Amino acid sequence: MSITHLPASASADEICAALADDGCVVVDRVVRPEVMDEVAHELRPFAEKTPLGPDDFSGRRTRRTGGLIARSPKSRDLVMHPTVLGAVGNAFGVAQVRLGGGRVHHAMRTLGNAQRCLDMMAERALSRVTKGEKLAEKQAVQNMIADSYIEIAQFRLLVLHTAWQIDSYQDYNRVRKDIAAIKVLTSRVMESVARRAIQIHGALGTTYDLPLTRMLASGLMLALADGPTEVHQTTVAKQVLRGYKPADGLWPSEYIPARRAEAAAELLGEKFKI
Ligand SMILES: Cc1cc2nc3c(=O)[nH]c(=O)nc-3n(C[C@H](O)[C@H](O)[C@H](O)COP(=O)(O)OP(=O)(O)OC[C@H]3O[C@@H](n4cnc5c(N)ncnc54)[C@H](O)[C@@H]3O)c2cc1C
Repeated sequence: MSITHLPASASADEICAALADDGCVVVDRVVRPEVMDEVAHELRPFAEKTPLGPDDFSGRRTRRTGGLIARSPKSRDLVMHPTVLGAVGNAFGVAQVRLGGGRVHHAMRTLGNAQRCLDMMAERALSRVTKGEKLAEKQAVQNMIADSYIEIAQFRLLVLHTAWQIDSYQDYNRVRKDIAAIKVLTSRVMESVARRAIQIHGALGTTYDLPLTRMLASGLMLALADGPTEVHQTTVAKQVLRGYKPADGLWPSEYIPARRAEAAAELLGEKFKI
């Protein structure tokens, strides 16, 4: 495979088209060669201590040293370059588009893990016999299996709906309410389903001989990674509130005495107006 090279004058659309076609693109000489030389010089001591990565991207082996900005002050010229950041003042928007896809990805992976927990729960409930009957015959265990199935099914449909909206609109910003909603659900569903799966597996469920405690921890972690749950709840609430306006008068618009009076006036005429 050969990588497409574009000149530094390439437009964002050309770069995006090359990325969509090949998944990667090299934009030549985006910054002055002296800047790159200095970045390379600043990073050399760190890069030399980094082992080669296991990948074989396009026939090259890479070193992933990380901490670019912390380790190379000159790299700021590179990172702040308009071709990298996009339009001035739009960096947050660029970041949100990038993170939007990542959040759907967290949700998709979590769905797989939650389904795996349910599969494990069902197998265990049908296998373990205590007090003369299988766990599957005990109502409390049935409740745990049913609630897990229901939560996973709701979550799966919201993830699919969100992905469908992204595909349809090609605009992450327009789907931000549901992206934030599935981010909130991702940790909740993982945590609650993994907790039940551990419960049904008894003491064995708490050990590292099963993957369940790791899955539970991933649920806790996903309530923080990519922004804490509370921040995404705020996004959902703000987006929901955009579709509403304050009540016209003192009372809520669903205030029954006022609605009754309005209906009476409409049906029976002005003389019945209160
Ligand atoms: C596994 C993992 C991977 C990560 N990867 C990355 C990464 O690749 N890049 C990156 O930049 N960051 C990454 N993070 C950092 C992550 O985004 C932050 O941990 C997260 O945003 C919370 O910030 P904080 O840890 O500073 O906690 P704080 O900001 O101190 O928040 C602590 C708690 O305070 C409350 N809180 C905070 N803000 C609000 C608010 N606005 N409204 C209401 N309550 C609030 C919440 O309960 C929150 O959990 C990662 C974190 C984890 C756990």
